[in-house]
Amino acid sequence: MDENTLMKAALEEAESELCYVGHSLVHEGYDTATIALALDLVRIALWGGNGDGKGPEHFEAIQAALKAKREEEGYGEKLERTCVACGCTDSRACPEGCHWVWLSTEKPVGICSVCAPAFGAWAVGAKSHG
Ligand SMILES: [Zn+2]
Ligand SMILES: [Zn+2]
Repeated sequence: MDENTLMKAALEEAESELCYVGHSLVHEGYDTATIALALDLVRIALWGGNGDGKGPEHFEAIQAALKAKREEEGYGEKLERTCVACGCTDSRACPEGCHWVWLSTEKPVGICSVCAPAFGAWAVGAKSHG
């Protein structure tokens, strides 16, 4: 494969991956604006258009919009996990100190050690399932 073929194959993979991730996140109720914008960029690079009337002349504008959106969403900052019961986070633990007893594998949420007793057997069960 020459370089262009490789590049195109890689972009095609990225395109379908982003599509898939975008779809599943929409199902979960997440905001997928950054994924949609990234997808536009990949499609313009791949096919010369995003399929929605935007071509290479829009590339830089979309890129700028993507950067602005990332800043707005606080990319670069560590993803904070939040306790679903009390709202404590990685950087703001409970006053008495706590650690994660259970963490969701899909969302940045969990249950901290202070709240875990209130969840009783359920939290213990969740923990044993990782
Ligand atoms: Zn808690
Ligand atoms: Zn806590």
